[in-house]
Amino acid sequence: ALTERLGGVFDKLTGRGVLSEKDVDAALREIRVALLEADVALPVVKDVVAKIRERAVGEDVIRAVAPGQQVVKIVHDALVDLLGGEGEQPGLMVEGEPPVAILMAGLQGSGKTTTSAKLAKRLQDVHKKKVLLASLDTRRPAAMEQLQQLAGQVGVGFLPIMANQRAVDIAKRAMNAGKLQGYDVVILDTAGRTSIDEDMMAEAKSIADVTRPRETLLVADALTGQDAVETAKRFHERLPLTGLVLTRMDGDGRGGAALSMRHVTGLPIKFLGVSEKPDGLDAFDAKRLAGRILGRGDIVSLVEKAAQDVDQDKAERLAKKMAKGKFDLDDLREQFGQLKKMGGLGGIMGMLPGMNKAAKSQMAAAGMDDRMLSRQEAIILSMTPQERAKPEILKASRKKRIAAGSGVTVADVNKLIKMHRQMADMMKKVGKKGRGGLAGMMGG
Ligand code: GDP
Ligand code: MG
Repeated sequence: ALTERLGGVFDKLTGRGVLSEKDVDAALREIRVALLEADVALPVVKDVVAKIRERAVGEDVIRAVAPGQQVVKIVHDALVDLLGGEGEQPGLMVEGEPPVAILMAGLQGSGKTTTSAKLAKRLQDVHKKKVLLASLDTRRPAAMEQLQQLAGQVGVGFLPIMANQRAVDIAKRAMNAGKLQGYDVVILDTAGRTSIDEDMMAEAKSIADVTRPRETLLVADALTGQDAVETAKRFHERLPLTGLVLTRMDGDGRGGAALSMRHVTGLPIKFLGVSEKPDGLDAFDAKRLAGRILGRGDIVSLVEKAAQDVDQDKAERLAKKMAKGKFDLDDLREQFGQLKKMGGLGGIMGMLPGMNKAAKSQMAAAGMDDRMLSRQEAIILSMTPQERAKPEILKASRKKRIAAGSGVTVADVNKLIKMHRQMADMMKKVGKKGRGGLAGMMGG
């Protein structure tokens, strides 16, 4: 994973004031691989990496976090910008003289029909619009019935099916029906092809010409990967697209296609499809997608939090001690305190990649929760200063006394001592590289 790779790169760094070109280049090599693994198209990766490089070189190093994590944050912020920036994205444009047309375009199987129904439901439920769904898919058997069924399911209007009509004529009929029956919005679901062909483009173009859609949305499968750029480019050349919808974001894909498509078209990503069900449509959130593309969970918030909360003086004092190979139980207790400040183990785990609900409840079951932190602190507080400084003097009788004093078992005390020993070993390694504290521990 990117975490380990960056860890490797930055283990070689010593504490410096700013990120040098060499540091950044080393990190960017790893970032490049991460982006490719997330299925961002190669030309886009190159552009993005160049932009990030510009930003990162010369940045002040935040002392409380590992440089690797800081670069990840810079990359993340750059991705957020590239994906359209933080905050509210432009919603659907449905204002204007009714009926307003929304045209759905995309390859076959990309999710046009499903998304049409999802949008209809959203426009009806959230925006209180009267919506008519029309299927212009004359190519796939049962495609029209599929949309009809979905329309019934979400409770919006459906343009009756008429055999042997051309797509353009269905489009005209839909707009007429929309006008006569007082619909606010008409969603036109078109036929895709398995690959981009002239026929499909010409058809979509002629539908757009007769309906003058307010929105022409390109629906694409998030798992498209490297083809995403070509698809987006070709559609955008021929159709006046107004936005993108990425479907199957509930799958294993890392969502790199979204970045690729956004990058080559400059179009806003408006929605993400997150299930097969009619309510499985999320408003687009650049921050969330950036995190997913980097595969880093919300390590970015962790860096932000670390920069804010962790006491710099303490961190530096600890770093010095660790550099000398010293990390006693008092230091461990201080680390517990910092953990607590950062929202406790639960808070931190939630921000780390790969920590899903199941993993969290497993940890809770294993007693690795915030109560554990308090218990560990209590054990250390039951020790004498001498014991805390020199854990090796802790023999059976002392352990028994400490266990009694802190209301735990001797086994608990042993566990803590073992954990401390492991951490001290790890920290010795990290500390030797002149960097430390909680952040160093997590990044190393
Ligand atoms: P179209 O050919 O572009 O109209 O694609 P469809 O709307 O028929 O979708 C093709 C398949 O993908 C269907 O089985 C849908 O249920 C499924 N699908 C569409 N969007 C999503 C999504 O966001 N998540 C998941 N898991 N499946 C989706
Ligand atoms: Mg369809």
